[in-house]
Amino acid sequence: MHDSFLTDEQRMIRQAVREFAEKDVRPRAAEIDETDEFPRDLYQKMADLGWFGLLLPPEAGGSGADTYSASLVHQELGRVSAALANMYAVAIEQADFFWALGNEAQRPLARRVASGELISCLAVTESHTGSDVAAITTTAVRGGDHYVINGAKAFVTLGKVIDLLVILAVTDRTKGKRGMSLFIIERGTPGFSFGRKERLMGIRGLATGEVFLENVRVPVANRVGPEGEGLRVALNGFNFARICMASMATGLTQGAYEEALRYARQRKAFGQAIYDFQAVQFMLADMWVDIQAAQGLLWQASKLRDAGRPYLAEAAAAKLFASDMAVRNISNAVQIHGGAGYTKDYPVERMYRDAKLTQIYEGTNQIQRLIIARQIASAG
Ligand SMILES: Cc1cc2nc3c(=O)[nH]c(=O)nc-3n(C[C@H](O)[C@H](O)[C@H](O)COP(=O)(O)OP(=O)(O)OC[C@H]3O[C@@H](n4cnc5c(N)ncnc54)[C@H](O)[C@@H]3O)c2cc1C
Repeated sequence: MHDSFLTDEQRMIRQAVREFAEKDVRPRAAEIDETDEFPRDLYQKMADLGWFGLLLPPEAGGSGADTYSASLVHQELGRVSAALANMYAVAIEQADFFWALGNEAQRPLARRVASGELISCLAVTESHTGSDVAAITTTAVRGGDHYVINGAKAFVTLGKVIDLLVILAVTDRTKGKRGMSLFIIERGTPGFSFGRKERLMGIRGLATGEVFLENVRVPVANRVGPEGEGLRVALNGFNFARICMASMATGLTQGAYEEALRYARQRKAFGQAIYDFQAVQFMLADMWVDIQAAQGLLWQASKLRDAGRPYLAEAAAAKLFASDMAVRNISNAVQIHGGAGYTKDYPVERMYRDAKLTQIYEGTNQIQRLIIARQIASAG
């Protein structure tokens, strides 16, 4: 987004994140990818800088910033490390979740997630179902003042390092989509265990893995929202998550664009910089245009969210466009690097792998198109 459209606060946030990303993250981005180790110190530093609580109101210990400010944090982190941007997404989404949807006893969890004291994640997907959320089979059976939960969750981001897990479970199968509820489960609760850590293509370092739930007993007080409302609440939460994913994809493309531009200026072929070939210039021009377009869609979805207006189609459009253009353009960033781009000596190789996830996560792009098609049909 052009600087002149940003508020002073947004410019300051962007500058602060850029400094952190350049100084603390860039030197370690390749190492995080290679070792696949969760960088707890960097996670905590983002919390200490107040970025996880950016959207929380001051009474919750946050800064009450607007949604596009959070998008700028994402974009700046994604420009250097998509893994850090994804960690940021999980933290800010969970802080927002507890504050917006928790009851009086659960709301303080927002502050504890924002401070980095607690790591929390939403676990909906199961090994047999992701897009078809209503087909989950994890159950929560009520018995007096508690529920007994049985099932397994797959692809839990930060799964191996979480303190809290928010899960979606079936509470009444006869009620279909109205028979699911959300529950908070604490690490260490008997019957709660971790399975294998996934060996991922990209966005590595997030300790993503399986979680097993075997006769896990949780008090009724751990249910978030009314019984039967879990699916609706979880699906609503995906709207903001899509802004996060679109922001990450946009930042990632900006980073790859800068790498490609630098390389094109310095690499020589046929006696000239490859930048001087129009075929290369056009790839870079397309990248620049796509980044501006994605920022425009993000800005629109963010503004609607802040205004408290529906933004389902706009968030889906931002996520769809930003992730597709990220894969397309980062492929071209690799192309501009030639053979060098296919090696781990240049960050575009990692960025290309990272970009692919953005077309899958928070609802695949086929699902985004379904959402948009339904919305435009209902709008007449
Ligand atoms: C690294 C990573 C981290 C993740 N983190 C989390 C997390 O923290 N929490 C969580 O709950 N989940 C998480 N997920 C899961 C993710 O949200 C799902 O992978 C995603 O929603 C797709 O579900 P699926 O993998 O089951 O694919 P499927 O639903 O099996 O889809 C397979 C293919 O079929 C297509 N398809 C399915 N239904 C339709 C349809 N109706 N119309 C057209 N095409 C369709 C899909 O678009 C896709 O191309 C994560 C996944 C990954 C890879």
